Amino acid sequence: MKKLKEDVVLTGDRPTGKLHLGHFVGSMQNRVKLQNEYAHCFYMVADIQALTDNAENPSKVRENAFEVVLDNLAVGLSPKKTTFFIQSQIPEIAELTVLFLNLVTLARLRRNPTVKDEMKQKGFGENVPAGFLIYPVSQAADILFCDSNIVPVGEDQLPVIEQANEIVTKFNSIYGETFRKIQPILSRAPRLIGIDGNNKAGKSLGNAIYLSDSLKEIKKKVMMMYTDPNHIRANNPGKVEGNVVFTYLDIFDLNKIEVEKLKAQYRLGGLGDVEVKKLLIDILENIIAPIRGRREELAKNPKFIENLLQEGTEKARAIAKTTMKKVREKIKIDYFKPI
Ligand code: ATP
Ligand code: MG
Repeated sequence: MKKLKEDVVLTGDRPTGKLHLGHFVGSMQNRVKLQNEYAHCFYMVADIQALTDNAENPSKVRENAFEVVLDNLAVGLSPKKTTFFIQSQIPEIAELTVLFLNLVTLARLRRNPTVKDEMKQKGFGENVPAGFLIYPVSQAADILFCDSNIVPVGEDQLPVIEQANEIVTKFNSIYGETFRKIQPILSRAPRLIGIDGNNKAGKSLGNAIYLSDSLKEIKKKVMMMYTDPNHIRANNPGKVEGNVVFTYLDIFDLNKIEVEKLKAQYRLGGLGDVEVKKLLIDILENIIAPIRGRREELAKNPKFIENLLQEGTEKARAIAKTTMKKVREKIKIDYFKPI
């Protein structure tokens, strides 16, 4: 048997909605691959992070905790290879977050480009929940409590990992070598655009094709996709750049020769939007149908999901306790034997 690498992989999703094609190509495919290469893999339901901008909607977060696990199992993450756990059930992560907060300035938090973008998108302005502003610090704790150093993410998360690495450097320089540098792993399509042409498909943006979408929904969404507004008739020459249908074909159609031919024909004129969209619908249905099927099967057995989450959370909690013991010693807050 092949020897598995000893690094620790951590990944996760915010339970703010079902998962979509952006997750699939941006992170999930890598997760499935990495679980076969690394001995220690963790998957976290980031419910505390989801609450940072959904505090008034706990039911949404609770319901989706189950859905994101279903999605990940359906694409092939295996509870035998990956430990599934729930962020809120590991109080040590919150403790670590509080300690890390002393190593970050408010100015640095406000400069994080991802947080800045998301704040704008959500219209927070000065009324940003403090928990949301500091989510990169909490994410550093998510990664480091289990000594993870490999994190498969979409491109939008790179600035968050960069900030986590600054915390690693600062912590180690003050308290002595403790945490390892984190390496983000990007996929072949690190940022899938939305069906509306927005620069990112996102759960909270409502512009994504979900892994649970029916064929009818896929058709409706592809038909709504932004193309070239000047390509009114099939025989007009059309633009491929910025055309969402072609962007998706570039990522999801593995027959690259076919895509190049279609692009040439579209540029020249003589290829209608509906024709290209029909091809994309077929390709997406081929990818999503088996995932949707597995998802429906798994959904019939909620007890199985509950059990694997409970077992995984217990395992993660034990690791968290060991890490916190070490951290408390380093920071000299190890007064008594643990209570
Ligand atoms: P929300 O809008 O609630 O933030 P989201 O769609 O951004 O939801 P997350 O749970 O925040 O999803 O992200 C989970 C993982 O999926 C992260 O690693 C993120 O970078 C990746 N990801 C999310 N959207 C995309 C996308 N459009 N393209 C590539 N990767 C993505
Ligand atoms: Mg997000």
